[in-house]
Amino acid sequence: MNFISLIETKRDGGRLASDEIHWLIAEYSADRIPDYQMSSMLMAVFKEGLDIDELAAWTDAMLHSGDVLDFSHISAPKVDKHSTGGVGDKVSIPLVPIVAACGLAVPMISGRGLGHTGGTLDKLETIPGFRTTLNPSEFALILETHGMVLAGQSETLVPADRRLYALRDVSGTVPSIPLISSSIMSKKLAEGLDALVLDVKVGSGAFMQDLHLARDLATTMVGIGRNRGTTVTAFITDMSQPLGREVGNANEIRESVEVLQGKGPPDLVELVYRLGAEMLVLGGLAADNDDGHTRMESVIASGAAFEKLKEVTAVQGGDIAVLDNPSLLPSAVNKHLVTASRSGIVVYADAMGIGVGAMRLGAGRGTKEDKIDPGVGTTVHVDVGDEVGAGTILATIAYNDDTNLADAVTLTTNAFLIADGPVRISPLVHEEIR
Ligand code: URA
Repeated sequence: MNFISLIETKRDGGRLASDEIHWLIAEYSADRIPDYQMSSMLMAVFKEGLDIDELAAWTDAMLHSGDVLDFSHISAPKVDKHSTGGVGDKVSIPLVPIVAACGLAVPMISGRGLGHTGGTLDKLETIPGFRTTLNPSEFALILETHGMVLAGQSETLVPADRRLYALRDVSGTVPSIPLISSSIMSKKLAEGLDALVLDVKVGSGAFMQDLHLARDLATTMVGIGRNRGTTVTAFITDMSQPLGREVGNANEIRESVEVLQGKGPPDLVELVYRLGAEMLVLGGLAADNDDGHTRMESVIASGAAFEKLKEVTAVQGGDIAVLDNPSLLPSAVNKHLVTASRSGIVVYADAMGIGVGAMRLGAGRGTKEDKIDPGVGTTVHVDVGDEVGAGTILATIAYNDDTNLADAVTLTTNAFLIADGPVRISPLVHEEIR
């Protein structure tokens, strides 16, 4: 096969055959196609898209570029959840132990934060000693013994995505629905799942800022799952304001512990229940959403869900003392309060501004090489629709290094709009796609 003619076919709006797609992914993975040619192909895909058969072949080729996990020896239903990422999205940390305590097996492979979005691995690593790098046999053993495991992607799982994602990052080809959906779904399908729940975020703090695009992405991923015989439900959920009150790594572990103790902010709690109940239904452990909800409530009330997180934290080397006493988690020494300049109604609490502000102080990474400051973060004290007076504290910014403080304060302050109205309160769940 000739790679240049495949680029030309795609560039001119033609279709690539399944064997051509398998060939090009395999050749690129084996270093026989240079990055400059592959980035040209990615741009052609970005512009022309992939039809349903091309997308199935592209996902399949990525999925088989490395190991495909097989947990068929584990009798519990294997169900995972994936979020496209947002600000304050710590859902996985309370959700996984809750549904594992209900009887699911959750082989969750998570990522790191980049830009304004946080990553589950960075949050977990604020627990002293918590190991997110596990070898495949350890990963399988923890899953089998404890019904859940929280780890990063190994070198051998979908290696084609690792290389393609890095290339997309520097070639202007990240925000492409076929490339995002094949990237996410190849990694999730490689986990050997029975079912998957997707949380596709929409709003200022999300990848997809527009409901039409989010719907397109969700529908595409549900279709990829269906083609491969894996049941997938996608929820399109709101990311116009941060989820919960806490943004920042240790802050988000603290808030996750609250959820496991039957507390926590209403939006975060509601989303954990919606996604978790669906995981239980898809896994065959709950008859319907209400039944799933009741089962989740009972493992929270009995303490079984919190115990499950502690059990797995200990197995993965983490210090469970910080879960029992979250004030022992890393924290920042300085605080800046953002206050309302007038009285009125909170019309916006923009997730992007708050997320980027926290990132500039070290809660996130501008580049993959940046180091996270685990104690840095922003606590948001108000929701869209709240009435405030002049001087009401809207957010507390906790920081150690003040190099970018002015910038972070401006971003966070400008994220809030206080006015007389009108206010549009977005629903937490916009749509469900099956
Ligand atoms: N997350 C992924 O894993 N891949 C993408 O392409 C985008 C988000």
